[in-house]
Amino acid sequence: MIKFSQMPYARPDLDKTKAFYAEETECFRNAKTFEEADEAFLKVQEEEKHYSTMATIAQIRHDIDSTDAFYDEEARELAKARPMLRESTHAWEQALLASPFRKDFEKKYGEVMFLNLELEARSFSPEIVSDMQEESLLCIEYSNLLASAQIEFEGSTYTLAQMTPFKQSKDDAQRRSAWIAEGAWYTANGEKLDEIYDKLVAIRTRMAKKLGFDNYIPLGYLRMQRNCYDQKDVEAFRASVRENLVPVAEEVCKKQAERLGVQYPLSFADEALFYRSGNARPVGTADDILANGRKFYHELSPETAEFIDVMLDGELMDVVAKKGKVGGGYCTSLPDYKVPFIFSNFNGTQGDVEVITHEAGHAFAGYMARNIVPTECQWPSLESCEIHSMSMEFFAWPWAGDFFGDQQDKFRYKHLSDALTFIPYGTMVDHFQHEVYAHPEYTPEQRHDIWRDLLKVYMPWMRRDDIPFYGDGKGWQRQHHIYESPFYYIDYCLAQSVALQFWALTQEDHAAAWKRYMDLVKLAGTRTFRQLTDAAGLETPFGPEALRKVAAKAKEWLEGFDAGKLQ
Ligand code: ZN
Repeated sequence: MIKFSQMPYARPDLDKTKAFYAEETECFRNAKTFEEADEAFLKVQEEEKHYSTMATIAQIRHDIDSTDAFYDEEARELAKARPMLRESTHAWEQALLASPFRKDFEKKYGEVMFLNLELEARSFSPEIVSDMQEESLLCIEYSNLLASAQIEFEGSTYTLAQMTPFKQSKDDAQRRSAWIAEGAWYTANGEKLDEIYDKLVAIRTRMAKKLGFDNYIPLGYLRMQRNCYDQKDVEAFRASVRENLVPVAEEVCKKQAERLGVQYPLSFADEALFYRSGNARPVGTADDILANGRKFYHELSPETAEFIDVMLDGELMDVVAKKGKVGGGYCTSLPDYKVPFIFSNFNGTQGDVEVITHEAGHAFAGYMARNIVPTECQWPSLESCEIHSMSMEFFAWPWAGDFFGDQQDKFRYKHLSDALTFIPYGTMVDHFQHEVYAHPEYTPEQRHDIWRDLLKVYMPWMRRDDIPFYGDGKGWQRQHHIYESPFYYIDYCLAQSVALQFWALTQEDHAAAWKRYMDLVKLAGTRTFRQLTDAAGLETPFGPEALRKVAAKAKEWLEGFDAGKLQ
């Protein structure tokens, strides 16, 4: 099997690609039979796979070393080309939607493809191409600004990712100064960060108006492929979070303050320290963590065993943090080779293990779906993708001893607690963006005010007069998604609500829960979020019931835990 470093790269020729689309769109329109139309369809599938493989290779290689001038240029050019190509793909999609053979296509490939095509068609017009280009360049500017951060701390210089261990240090003074040092970097770059976001909100609002919407919110929903729920459902979810989860999360944080012997509500720096003795840290080196990952997937199921060997033996996981590497982590795929790819930055915290469980959960789902045609149906919409990954984190609980040694209980207790405090945070991120895009005229200062107000509602356990930058209501500026992928964040919250249902099932019967998980994973993107949760016999989290039940179950588990062990 070809390894990642051996995969050839050549920039796809934009003009040739456009000509290809024009030709195939013409063939498709003139097709007299379904077979003829299907032939053009499959050719376009191959072209899309190749284009996406090239663009992804360039992006990954740029992200691994952002100082590499060649891939920096390639990533930029491809980002610029994408909206220009969009005109061609739009014409192709219009032809698909207008096809007299739609019924035959639906029969062969399922209905979700057309459902998503309809959303896509409503979210684009050639008129917004230049706006999309501007948008994507601003996102690159934001990402490069964060990647360029050099933070002076205790006599050395660190990137944002490298600051994370200090921000979780068990030494109160060190942890606090790490938060202050990091916050000071954001404050120093605050004007730039405000300016980038201001421009993004204006551009997105302009695009929405050109497409006939009042503001960006409905367009944002279309771009996030919301194919089975709307703003009202999300509002109902937010209400359920406030009612069912915020009180349980508050209890978690009160116990945390007691355990640490610190003031409640918590300061930002204290919230980051879950245990006085420090958070659970993975045992061993990066290689040990990868080896334990291999063991976990080998023991979990035959399908996961095959998958992890492909990943590790094909150099498909670049996980070690180094200078020049872009921050964060993600999972993507290289369709020409039918393999996923995992990118991340190991930093010695429990996040490293999450790469093995969370990101590899995505990758496993992608690997299982690698032969599905059309490729668009290999991945579901993003909230369902996050079910794959967040649930995998819970399925790994019995193997926590391999990753964390004698700190495994600390890990589990915190993992579950984090899930409960995360959902309110994530819901706040989404609520914030609704306010921002409903009021594009707001000034940066007004946006910071909204964030400060929402903190009171969704995170009443936080002290808001504390660390500069965070206490100033500007903490949202470090949340990549708010800049780069508007309205993405609620997807994590919806997914976590489903993953918690899987967690509850594993508490009863791990094997039975795994079987239901596989039922969901095997359907990949051939179904909507609601249909996928139905297929696994789970509840969608839009009504109050789903969250009420898991919150009660989680509360019971946490209260039944021997807290004496947790110092
Ligand atoms: Zn994920």
